Amino acid sequence: MNGTKIFEDKNLDQELIRRAYDFGEKAHKGQLRKSGEPYFNHCLETAKFLYDWGLDSVTIAAGLLHDTLEDTNITPAELKNEFGEKTFLLVEGISKIGQLKLKNSASPKNKFVENLRKMFLVMSKDVRVVFIKLADRLHNMLTIEYLPEDKQKRIARETLEIFAPLAERLGMGRLKGDLEDLCFAVLYPEEYQETKGLMKGQLQNVEKTLQEIEKTLRKKMEQEKIEVIDMHHRVKRFYSLYCKLRLKDSKIEKIYDLVALRVIVKKKEDCYAALGAVHSFWKPLIGRIKDYIAQPKPNGYQSLHTTVFGPEGYIVEIQIRTRKMHEEAEYGLVAHWHYKSLPKIDTLANEQIKWVKRLATWQKQVLDDKEFLRDLKTDVFNKRIFVFTPKGDCIDLPLGATPIDFAYQIHTELGDSCNGAEVDGKWVSLNYELQNGQVVKIISSKQQKNPRRDWLEFVKTSKAKSRIKQGLGR
Ligand code: MN
Repeated sequence: MNGTKIFEDKNLDQELIRRAYDFGEKAHKGQLRKSGEPYFNHCLETAKFLYDWGLDSVTIAAGLLHDTLEDTNITPAELKNEFGEKTFLLVEGISKIGQLKLKNSASPKNKFVENLRKMFLVMSKDVRVVFIKLADRLHNMLTIEYLPEDKQKRIARETLEIFAPLAERLGMGRLKGDLEDLCFAVLYPEEYQETKGLMKGQLQNVEKTLQEIEKTLRKKMEQEKIEVIDMHHRVKRFYSLYCKLRLKDSKIEKIYDLVALRVIVKKKEDCYAALGAVHSFWKPLIGRIKDYIAQPKPNGYQSLHTTVFGPEGYIVEIQIRTRKMHEEAEYGLVAHWHYKSLPKIDTLANEQIKWVKRLATWQKQVLDDKEFLRDLKTDVFNKRIFVFTPKGDCIDLPLGATPIDFAYQIHTELGDSCNGAEVDGKWVSLNYELQNGQVVKIISSKQQKNPRRDWLEFVKTSKAKSRIKQGLGR
């Protein structure tokens, strides 16, 4: 018997998981982690996270195998032969991300941006690669104490700057919080302890108030016949509190969402009814009622928020949402992926496009907001752009590239027959300059068989230029 018992679930392909387990365990035999435990434990823990997040059998199998190409003698051919294309591609994707560290000897900042860019390319092929990478990173952060200090800091910084925001962009709120707090403890140990202490002192006061509110509210909801699925409270994460305290330079007494009461109801309409019930007891603070149901956050987050003057003058935040909204807020895209809900292929494709768009906005924000990237604008990102096919495939082009460049990048025939283009759903001219993160759809026509000479005046890639010349000569 092997350790796959934990994955026992009738919806999963037990045979595949067992084979991946045996194969991975054998491949890593004799290897130890810095902690002294067998290396394969790390692969198993990674796969467990994927299982907890409700991912499918292929992803779990790939989690068990995720380090075999990089760290063992197993060849790509062997792996493909043993597990087939699907599992292989995921493991290969993870290895590609892993190898990014080794390449490129330019300055650390250049390397970072270049790697980020390549990572987007790998990840945009199959979003499940991201989930495996995040699970792998979560376990590495949980066991980081065994590494030398400089390595700890480097990994924690990378996690805080890339992977935690990535989790947030994917709507995986819980994971984002976990990663941030783990990094916080490594990067700013003193501030971490301080924040922890502050929180502890404040919590004792709030706890009683919350229980009172909960009791009153449950009674009222019963009278109003609004079904409550769950009521619980969440405590603000340490890193998030630390940032807020620093940002506003304020006192902990002024942080109103230190603890928030969560009310989970059945239907969307019930959310608004519940909000009414809350306000019938406690007055809301002006400007603190937020309707993220009517207007979701960019990462898809939905909920109603209100901050009220609670009993004895305590100010408390209350968040109201349905079970579905709640799961999406905690687990993000993974909530859609859940094997139990067996989504249809086309909804999956939709979700993937949404994800790619999210990733693209995030990428833009990273470029605009983060100081550490500001001075890099002259570099790689400035000379290259990322755009996406309607299916979510990422196409890497030089700055100033046009739909014609894009079409030739995909296929010569598509370039030759290109008759028009839509960018983010709107018609554009063929010499339009594509921007980072856009989704481009090429409209081809049967009448259009050969490239046009005037295209040469505006195309940017050498590929497009040579194909156009070739086509004109035919
Ligand atoms: Mn790993």
